[in-house]
Amino acid sequence: MSNVSIPKGRDAVDQEQFLTILSREDALARFEAAVFPRALPVEDRSLAEALGLPLAHDLVADIDVPPFDRSNVDGFAVRSADLATAGEAAPVRLLLNDEVIACGTAPTRPVLSGSATSIATGGPLPRGADAIVMVEHTQPEGDRAIEIRRAASPGQFVSYAGSDIARGETVLRAGTVIGSREIGMCAACGIAKLPVVRRPRVAVISTGGELVQPGETLRPAAIYDTNGAIVSAAVAENGGEVKFFGAIADDEAELEAAMRRALETSDMLVLSGGTSKGAGDVSHRIIARLGKPGIIAHGVALKPGKPLCLAVCDGKPVVILPGFPTSAMFTFHDMIVPVLRRMAGLPPRSDAKVTARIPVRIPSELGRTEFVMVSLVEGAGGLIAYPSGKGSGAITAFTQSDGFLKIDALADQMPAGTETEVTLLTPHVRVPDLVIVGSHCTGLDLVTAPLARAGLVVRSIAVGSLGGLAAAKRGECDLAPIHLFDEKSETYNTPFLGEGLELVPGWRRMQGIVFRKGDARFTGLSAEEAVRSALADPECIMVNRNQGAGTRILIDRLLNGARPDGYWNQPRSHNAVAAAIAQHRADWGMTIAPVADAADLGFIPLAEEHYDFALVTARKQRAGVQAFLGALASDESRAALQQAGFTKA
Ligand code: AMP
Ligand code: MG
Repeated sequence: MSNVSIPKGRDAVDQEQFLTILSREDALARFEAAVFPRALPVEDRSLAEALGLPLAHDLVADIDVPPFDRSNVDGFAVRSADLATAGEAAPVRLLLNDEVIACGTAPTRPVLSGSATSIATGGPLPRGADAIVMVEHTQPEGDRAIEIRRAASPGQFVSYAGSDIARGETVLRAGTVIGSREIGMCAACGIAKLPVVRRPRVAVISTGGELVQPGETLRPAAIYDTNGAIVSAAVAENGGEVKFFGAIADDEAELEAAMRRALETSDMLVLSGGTSKGAGDVSHRIIARLGKPGIIAHGVALKPGKPLCLAVCDGKPVVILPGFPTSAMFTFHDMIVPVLRRMAGLPPRSDAKVTARIPVRIPSELGRTEFVMVSLVEGAGGLIAYPSGKGSGAITAFTQSDGFLKIDALADQMPAGTETEVTLLTPHVRVPDLVIVGSHCTGLDLVTAPLARAGLVVRSIAVGSLGGLAAAKRGECDLAPIHLFDEKSETYNTPFLGEGLELVPGWRRMQGIVFRKGDARFTGLSAEEAVRSALADPECIMVNRNQGAGTRILIDRLLNGARPDGYWNQPRSHNAVAAAIAQHRADWGMTIAPVADAADLGFIPLAEEHYDFALVTARKQRAGVQAFLGALASDESRAALQQAGFTKA
């Protein structure tokens, strides 16, 4: 196994560079220059264990394949000259030699003129013979002779020695990734072991005292370590051998010990979290002590991913990915994967790309290359790419997208209607059979479940009621789930439909006041009494909803102009309201019954909210829409909705 070699002169890389933000291209170029060239370690592996690894050296065959001239069919080995005069009216009679050449049997008798030897597919051609006649083209004459009524050309149905692979031929080139075809080739040549590039050993460490490993119990204020799992998997997907060291708290001594331990047995170290230069973020300080040249870039003009830190310590790349999982994934794929794959001897990743139009303007920060996750749907004039933006803290932005687009560092926006390139996260686009854009409800998953079971791809994009209506009006979706209350008419949804849209009744969601069970300020009261009781207690804190939410209108009516403590805390979802109360950050608020139940909170019913669908009439006959309407009307979904606390309209 060869050792890593780093050219001299890199020690001088300026340690102060991390104070400047580098462009994405500049940072990647400097990182690659500090890591390469390097000798790639080589190991011998059995054929089965070489699967997926790149071949380290050219491979030369040292035998001929096939090793002898062999028959391609079941038939008779003959001298073609004997059959020169054969024809329909002029049969030629050949005497059979006293042997049968089965596969794996070496012939013992020559084929003399006027004779033939029975031979099986794969049998070696006997001395004297130069062609094979198929058994179908012969007529037995007793069991000692055959009759043939057609001529045979020399070499007919014969594979000559070395015609597949010739001894001395280069069968596989260095760098070829070993797949089943390559393994077959090696097996045919009798090669049992292959020299391959050893997988780089990559240590993965998550940082932060707030992190708990999946499978363990979440304590208050803690979150699950997402990066540990996702980075480990992405390392493996790109040719690395992962060793996960768990999550380490931001303690300088503890983290330094873990990083040193990880580097001892690894070729590369990938950390996540703690990249900003705030108090408690210590990993970049430790890197400076781990080896030369140290930090190459700290701060890259990328969005998401600005705080990325790239370093090389005594020949080993050490990187700190941003803490937010989506940022961590982007920077890993964009900046680390190229280096990792080169270290693994693998070719650069070839991502599939498609062209799509963006339906809405996407603002972008000037001076940073921005990546935007998108979901693809089929529009009238081709593919449409919906930004699935939920902020860099959202893991679903990554897992529920089809791909991403890139906004140039020098652009401050991408205007609506732009045709742009989308890099796919999967090898192919699968355009959904049904597209639902609007407000999300857990009831929706119950109704679409049978469609998914039937093999239909349902794409649901949560953009809120108004966003859904706009998408429906532009013809970008089949259905827009909405729950909009019109104060003038005091009705839900219908007043908001425009031309080309029709209402499909969905279900009702009971809204009401939520509080922690046992709170005497609310237990047993009506909604109006509960609000009076809350307002009477100056210690009581509420949690509100965002402007524009149907629930917010109900709250404001109940408050009748009052602005109690907590009024300005305005989360955007039913679940956030329940979480705030369950975690004692607030004492009361308004949410829907199923959410209150799931969080084990007390609930005072107030009014039913109508969750309906704006259907794009022009798309009503599509198979996906018809399947949805069928599922919505079924007894199965009625029961499932009921069970979950919703009432079918
Ligand atoms: P940091 O840069 O360490 O301050 O992290 C930024 C954000 O990412 C914080 O909200 C962290 O809790 C979160 N974060 C950091 N590491 C992880 C991880 N391994 N999994 C999930 N979230 C993380
Ligand atoms: Mg942290």
